[in-house]
Amino acid sequence: MDQAKIGKFIAFQRKEHGWTQSQLAEKLGITDKAVSKWETGRSLPDLSLFTPLCDLLDITLNELLLGELIPDDCLKEKSNEALFEVISSFLGNDKRYIPNLENKDIVLQLENVEKIYDTAGSAKVAINGISFQVARGSFVGIMGASGSGKSTLLNMIATIDRPSSGTIQVDGQIISDFPDKDLADFRRQHLGFIFQEYNLLDTLTIYENIALALTIKEVPKRKIKDTVHKLASDLNITEVLNKFPYEVSGGQRQRCACARAIVTNPSLILADEPTGALDSYSAKQLLETLVMLRQDYSATILMVTHDIFSASYCDKIFFLKDGSIKACLDRGEKSKQIFFADILDVMAKITEDVGHVS
Ligand code: ADP
Ligand code: MG
Repeated sequence: MDQAKIGKFIAFQRKEHGWTQSQLAEKLGITDKAVSKWETGRSLPDLSLFTPLCDLLDITLNELLLGELIPDDCLKEKSNEALFEVISSFLGNDKRYIPNLENKDIVLQLENVEKIYDTAGSAKVAINGISFQVARGSFVGIMGASGSGKSTLLNMIATIDRPSSGTIQVDGQIISDFPDKDLADFRRQHLGFIFQEYNLLDTLTIYENIALALTIKEVPKRKIKDTVHKLASDLNITEVLNKFPYEVSGGQRQRCACARAIVTNPSLILADEPTGALDSYSAKQLLETLVMLRQDYSATILMVTHDIFSASYCDKIFFLKDGSIKACLDRGEKSKQIFFADILDVMAKITEDVGHVS
């Protein structure tokens, strides 16, 4: 958003009403200094003031965001422009390393996976013959509305549940056939988890929570300390290492969950709605952390989400509906903004056309 332009526009509209900066400030219940800062382009009005400010100045929200009056004949075009401005500023700058996945090996492979729940004599098909692959070093999203089968799918990949038919391979091993007794070991060695409910142990400090995974792997104590401290510094949680999970913010807890998921260097990190319980600022930080893990720690991440904002951070998205994959989108070299718009498009198509497959 063009702060200077918006500032000049506010100043102009204020004068049209014959008010001084103090008078406008008083009507909004804020300081003169805040109004002066907007008008000189040094800051933008707080989100909570957008509506009262527009009401006072007799302008629309789109006009405020664009910093100009919108004539009726280009209302639609200008509204889209305003929306795009908002999305762009919300999604932030786009510094991204684009993974070259062409010669990468496959970490996860699903073939014709089906899950049928047998409840009270009637069969419910939760996953209906799904096949896809995830390349090492990619950040893949699975999007779908509530009830589309996301958790069922993730639980099968997590070896918490088994498919009714079909196969799931992780690192070339068919995990869907593993005997129960080997599953816990497999999970520990190959998988990392980040869930919506922070799955940290309340009786351990953040440091102990992260170190625990390495202790189980019998890593020497000295090495554990170095590894945890390096990771904590990269994830910006050094200052909370000695606190307990209930003493830190939701965003910090989720970054600790990320640290714990990556610390054993797993083949695949599974994340189920990891931003679900976070405010938008913490959600953004968490998503940037995930992108960092895949860039700097070569992590492979599979994230389930129903949220477009979260999905726009992924390299690739599978769209799930009624237990089937209806579409797939690759981000390629697209900016996050364009990708966001593409996701909206696909979602609209899937909603209107049940049979759509691409
Ligand atoms: P999502 O995570 O996308 O919200 P789920 O995987 O939880 O979807 O559920 C997919 C479908 O399977 C839903 O219709 C749900 O009611 C059904 N389902 C999920 N778990 C069970 C279960 N244990 N028994 C019977 N039906 C289930
Ligand atoms: Mg779910």
